Amino acid sequence: MTELRRDYLAERWVVIARERAMRPSDLKVEGIHQSPSSICPFCPGNEHMTLPATLLYLERDGELVVKAESDSERLKGWLVRVIPNMYPALRPNVNPARHCEGFMVRVGGMGAHEVIIETPEHDTQFCDLSDRQLFLVFKAYTERFKALASLPHVKYVSLFRNYGKEAGASLSHPHSQIIATPIIPPRISEETASFKERWNGSSCILDEVLEQEASSERFVDENEFAVAFCPYAPIAPFEVLVVPKRHIKNILELSEKEMLSFARLTRKVLKAIHIILNDPPYNYTFHQSILDEEYHMHLRVLPRLSIFAGFEFNTGIVINTIPPEEAASQIGGVMKEI
Ligand SMILES: [Zn+2]
Ligand SMILES: [Zn+2]
Repeated sequence: MTELRRDYLAERWVVIARERAMRPSDLKVEGIHQSPSSICPFCPGNEHMTLPATLLYLERDGELVVKAESDSERLKGWLVRVIPNMYPALRPNVNPARHCEGFMVRVGGMGAHEVIIETPEHDTQFCDLSDRQLFLVFKAYTERFKALASLPHVKYVSLFRNYGKEAGASLSHPHSQIIATPIIPPRISEETASFKERWNGSSCILDEVLEQEASSERFVDENEFAVAFCPYAPIAPFEVLVVPKRHIKNILELSEKEMLSFARLTRKVLKAIHIILNDPPYNYTFHQSILDEEYHMHLRVLPRLSIFAGFEFNTGIVINTIPPEEAASQIGGVMKEI
């Protein structure tokens, strides 16, 4: 059966086209093989190849030490290292003024672009990180989100992870990225409008969705503080949403306990996807708001198995050949075993 489904939060449509007997195994990828290749600038010992860290976690005598590096300084023995991107999409110290000349509208490319190096170990998979390391990664997310969100003119902070070349990762060393922008991106602004429209003073549209999906065939797994499910209108096969049960607008509002719990559920989802699809490329992206209380933060995990082609670019409508109900049953099944 083929049908068009609308996203919960935005005017975005997906064709669920299970017209041929496609099984998840048809989507299995060959696995991501890195060429043994050149020197990795994210590996310990090569810190001089990068700009000075804006945030470093080190362990000294069993204690966590938080540092930043100055110009000529590079510290050794770090656990997590955050550095400015060498080739930033947006930069601080640019005037974000808006110019309109007829049809042409532009805003200065002000912002910030940083890389979060998640572990000193080059060959570790994110889905295999220890609880301790996972916690430090999310703690670094939080600290840098806070720092960038408080910069003047910043309206949004995009936090995401690209894994594998097809998902846009140019280096295989485990890392995430964070980009601060001087505008609220269209997708987020559309979602925000939807959250505001359905806000009843204490709960939002996503709280209603959570309630329904917790017992639907799209449910994947949950723990004390977060729920994972395949969204009704997924733009990617095996797309999963991880949502905090409590209504919070961004990662800063998670307590440390909630943060670890949220991170662990995310890691488990990624592990299951890794097993089912044989280490596929993927993106995960945080959807959150700096200021809008009505917004409910969530994380989207998007395996990159399908290609956007003419129809997608022309219409913005994506064709997805794996119904989310089927993906959820697979992912949920594997998650019970791990
Ligand atoms: Zn490396
Ligand atoms: Zn909510």
